[in-house]
Amino acid sequence: MALSPRVREPENREQLCCTFASRYVRDSVPKFTMPEKSIPKDAAYQIINDELMLDGAPRLNLASFVTTWMEPEVDKLIMASLNKNYVDMDEYPVTTELQNRCVNMIAHLFNAPIGEDETAVGVGTVGSSEAIMLAGLAFKRKWQIKRKSEGKPYDKPNIVTGANVQVCWEKFARYFEVELKEVKLSEGCYVMDPKKAVELVDENTICVAAILGSTLTGEFEDVKLLNELLTEKNKETGWDTPIHVDAASGGFIAPFLSPDLVWDFRLPLVKSINVSGHKYGLVYPGVGWVVWRSKDDLPDDLVFHINYLGTDQPTFTLNFSKGSSQIIAQYYQFIRLGFEGYKNIMENCMENARILKEGIERTGRFNILSKDVGVPVVAMSLKDSSQHTVFEISDHLRRFGWIVPAYSMPPDVQHVAVLRVVIREDFSRSLAERLMSDIEKVVQLLDILPSPLPLKAANVSTIANDSDHHHKVKKSEMEIQAEVLEFWKRLVDGRRTGAC
Ligand SMILES: *Cc1c(COP(=O)(O)O)cnc(C)c1O
Repeated sequence: MALSPRVREPENREQLCCTFASRYVRDSVPKFTMPEKSIPKDAAYQIINDELMLDGAPRLNLASFVTTWMEPEVDKLIMASLNKNYVDMDEYPVTTELQNRCVNMIAHLFNAPIGEDETAVGVGTVGSSEAIMLAGLAFKRKWQIKRKSEGKPYDKPNIVTGANVQVCWEKFARYFEVELKEVKLSEGCYVMDPKKAVELVDENTICVAAILGSTLTGEFEDVKLLNELLTEKNKETGWDTPIHVDAASGGFIAPFLSPDLVWDFRLPLVKSINVSGHKYGLVYPGVGWVVWRSKDDLPDDLVFHINYLGTDQPTFTLNFSKGSSQIIAQYYQFIRLGFEGYKNIMENCMENARILKEGIERTGRFNILSKDVGVPVVAMSLKDSSQHTVFEISDHLRRFGWIVPAYSMPPDVQHVAVLRVVIREDFSRSLAERLMSDIEKVVQLLDILPSPLPLKAANVSTIANDSDHHHKVKKSEMEIQAEVLEFWKRLVDGRRTGAC
């Protein structure tokens, strides 16, 4: 018996439903166990896409150094290489060749002493963290080999850094059992003091790590002075403590903007340098680089030789398989932009950072902690944090769509809390101006809002009669609400009339 056209199979009915009325989207999906049954691909796509809408907008995420915009042409290259496993070097010799070209370009950019027919020693990684693990391992192994040959104990290696190091150094220390000796920071000095660093060096120090572009403020550490002081100390003691430069962010800034700043392989003690391809290397997340001064600085027994994919392939990475796209995208940026292109982009970032700094200084409320030379970062602290904090400013900026992190400085300067804006390629002048005016609005709003901070006993008596500072006068909740409403009303009216 033929079915009447109105009676359909349930499967069919599902196919006819519009996406949001289908049962797949109407029911909740299991979150912690794998669902029993399959669902249609368009439903799966929709469900995930929609949940992701609640993530922040990457380009408004001013917390991160990591690239959030690339030219559309590179998307094609990335998509076309998504299914290429980078480790299959024999199968994808061209991809391997591109990574080698990138290593060589970076080594030259960092002034590695490479002879005419020599190739640079280095490797592509997932990011600077992996690069630092590898560099750290090389130092540790070299130190151990030397100590063994001298018949000295080799079980207590340490590494000297500033207390401002990125967390990956702490990871390296803990994962690979190396003691981390941190140079303390002090108020007004948020980078490693080379003199204090060299004082901490002893016979068990595998290397001193300097940062080109401190994560906290963007400031460059003085690698040249460190090299001088350490050379002296090595001479006195007979040790040969080397230097690593963590140029995660600054490695693609300094060569273009401060070519005369000597921080790289021009300094004899600098044996390895890492840089994040996905920061100012201008590639989407998933690529970093480490280069060594010479073959001698990378102990042989850390390099594995695999041949089951074809010919002999040396590898020195923590992971085996990974994607190729980011390496290819890095090569794209190098040949597409060239030195000229990178220089232009970095100059523009610095200019936007400068404009933002000036605007922020004009409010009279902030101290700017970032220096003029460094990574384009604007780190600021409140001049007066007795009523409100940078954490509240960060919260309020979220309302305007901005993600600007606030954090306390490391131990010893923990009482200093900062707000940090990272300027990336895609942060245009008009966005900088908009952010500036939104920060001003937040500051005005905070002047109205009561302080959420516990009042210090000494302050309480002065509050009621301090009428000069209206934000210090106790107000009723109703009054505050009315003022806040008035504030938002003014803002909306301003927008209508085109004022910013
Ligand atoms: C970002 C950063 C790292 C970590 O780099 P990833 O590429 O994110 O792994 C290490 N050191 C410094 C100074 C950094 O800025």
